[in-house]
Amino acid sequence: MVSTLELRPLVDDHRRNELRLRKSTFREMASVWRANVDPEDPVDAIPGAAVVLTDLVHASRKSSSDNGISFYREMRSAAGVAGRFSPGRAPDIPNALLLETLTRSARSVALAALGRGYTRPEASRKALLALEGRASRYVANGSRDSIGLAVSSDPRARGYERVTSDDPCPFCALMASRGPVYKSEQAADFEAHDFCQCHTAPAFEGTTFDPDPIQAEAQRLYREMDGSSLSEFRKVWRNRQSR
Ligand SMILES: [Zn+2]
Repeated sequence: MVSTLELRPLVDDHRRNELRLRKSTFREMASVWRANVDPEDPVDAIPGAAVVLTDLVHASRKSSSDNGISFYREMRSAAGVAGRFSPGRAPDIPNALLLETLTRSARSVALAALGRGYTRPEASRKALLALEGRASRYVANGSRDSIGLAVSSDPRARGYERVTSDDPCPFCALMASRGPVYKSEQAADFEAHDFCQCHTAPAFEGTTFDPDPIQAEAQRLYREMDGSSLSEFRKVWRNRQSR
């Protein structure tokens, strides 16, 4: 019998790997941006830059999927699960959809910034930041999706839990507090936001759930509050953060 907390060092390793991947993706994105986008004329250059950026995001997403698969294998073996299981990479997102999403979000952010009176170089920086947010989500969904797929097809898997950073938003804290109850192949159901630092951690038959400090606090605050709405929890969680 192993508890989710005992396996937490492996989760932390996974988080560090994903953070490194995120940082290197952002570095490469910034250099693509510099090479393709004239800061004095950001809007026109966005469609061309987005084509190069989609290739980069696909490649990073693949690395993230591979991180997720190795992590899954390590967790399964550390949990002492009997029998073999080979997790596979979850399908990639369609290129046309990714290209359209990146182009649209960068364009709308740049145009909105210009409309609010920001300079062109400032609008260009904001557009890149928006792209990083989108990319962070698509890339990390590689490991989230691959782990989700493994959990849903591995007969020994119990579910996965959401594990957050040390300072999650209220939504993420509340979802994490439920423990390893999730079973979905799709990150769309995981509802990661841009720049979200949450990961999925698989739990197996025989694994007990021991909440980490964030999960325990979210559980306590949720239990103690009046009612059970997310909007109420957001207030309670934010009050706690401002203390
Ligand atoms: Zn999150």
